[in-house]
Amino acid sequence: MPDIRVLSVASEAVPLVKTGGLADVVGALPGALADEGVAVTTLLPGYPSVLKALGRARAVHTWPDLFGGPARLLTGKLGAHPLYVLDAPDLFTREGLPYADAAGKDWPDNWRRFCALGRAAADVAGGAVVLRGKAQRFDLLHAHDWQGAMAAAYTRYAPFGGAAVPSVVTVHNIAFQGRFEAAIFAETGLPSRAWHMQGVEYYGGFGMLKAGLFCADAITTVSPTYAREIRSPRFGMGLEGLIAERGSAVHGILNGIDGELWNPAHDASLAATYTARTLGRKALNTRALEAEFGLVEEESPLFVAITRLTWQKGMDLLPEMADHLVAQGARLAVLGSGDADLEAQLRAVAARHPGRVAVRIGYDEALSHRMQAGGDAILIPSRFEPCGLTQLYGLAYGCVPVVARTGGLADTVIDANPAALAAGVATGIQFDGVDAQNVAAAIERTVALYGQKDDWQRLQKNGMKADFSWGASGRAYARLYRDLIG
Ligand code: ADP
Repeated sequence: MPDIRVLSVASEAVPLVKTGGLADVVGALPGALADEGVAVTTLLPGYPSVLKALGRARAVHTWPDLFGGPARLLTGKLGAHPLYVLDAPDLFTREGLPYADAAGKDWPDNWRRFCALGRAAADVAGGAVVLRGKAQRFDLLHAHDWQGAMAAAYTRYAPFGGAAVPSVVTVHNIAFQGRFEAAIFAETGLPSRAWHMQGVEYYGGFGMLKAGLFCADAITTVSPTYAREIRSPRFGMGLEGLIAERGSAVHGILNGIDGELWNPAHDASLAATYTARTLGRKALNTRALEAEFGLVEEESPLFVAITRLTWQKGMDLLPEMADHLVAQGARLAVLGSGDADLEAQLRAVAARHPGRVAVRIGYDEALSHRMQAGGDAILIPSRFEPCGLTQLYGLAYGCVPVVARTGGLADTVIDANPAALAAGVATGIQFDGVDAQNVAAAIERTVALYGQKDDWQRLQKNGMKADFSWGASGRAYARLYRDLIG
């Protein structure tokens, strides 16, 4: 029987709504914590896709006026776990992306949308839902990223029922900070004492992530290396001072991966399932991927990239990398979406190298699985990477990660240097400094290693056997929750 109840509030969660790794993690947390005696209920905004998946749902609480309109709290399921959905039609019932319209332009009232989510979370954690005469209070509030962060601020400055619930804010990417004009403060319903550097004020404006990081009882981020990196201006992006000040309240807990969804032994989207012992069958997926992307069929390494096409991910270097990779006799398949300029450049590269470079622009979950299964190596030249999931999926699928040594990439991949190769522990390739020259050198190392069949297979098998399940991380979160609840 669980002995603590946690409300986890976020703007996305697999399988209902996903734009990136945040959704994988929020979707996996309830399962990861169930074994630790922690019952997690997730609270999500009622986007059209989420409401549709809920079907006919029961309302357990209503707000006559939540940031300008009525709202209801609906109950449902996130996989096998309890879900609350904030149905606020004026705020969330609109077509487009979670944070932007169909053209990719941020919704101008995002501050209102996610203040409402935070206010609702603080109310619900504090016991606003009453069932059979009993207030359903939670023991702890766990908020994710800037979109969830206001929950920690509301529970501190204006808690429902008068007593603040302990809170944790997790930073999945400190580059996204939810920064708005100072003028919105008057409409947030926060007391005037909150407008302070020691509060929600942030460089003269209103900072939602800042507010959460200041107010939370503990801060976590998604890898130990990133937890250290964000104390410096280069990675902290303005929040480094606050992070450093919070000192021992900041923890790095590595993300796990969902071994049900990401397991080549029984992944229904693959041409052929396989394990470390039947690794030969991976080639069937490679053949299928070559056919799907129109790549030549040959015995050369097939690199893949599955990514948001952004500067953070080093994707501005991809056109140059692709040329270099082809010069080395390798091939490349890319799945990505993002920056329109980069999309156009990638299409041009593919046109330049027919049969050797192919690009799919868009977001395609099933294809991302087929690419991890069919690819030999996955390129991840991120300039910063809080944790990164695609390298973990790569490891699990025997698709060797080629990564920049930063954040979670540094923590999860063991570089194939001579010592690690000799000890038989290497799982991938790491390089320092994201620029064209260093990436080119990493590609050359990868192509050379691919040619040494025994070493290469060892890399693949080491990765497949490495344990990046949620076990240890679930225990770390549970320990932190218990410390805070006291
Ligand atoms: P981030 O959250 O910064 O984008 P992560 O590596 O933590 O990076 O998580 C990215 C997640 O999104 C992974 O699950 C990855 O497989 C998925 N992903 C990224 N781009 C695409 C795409 N174009 N199509 C399908 N899945 C994608």
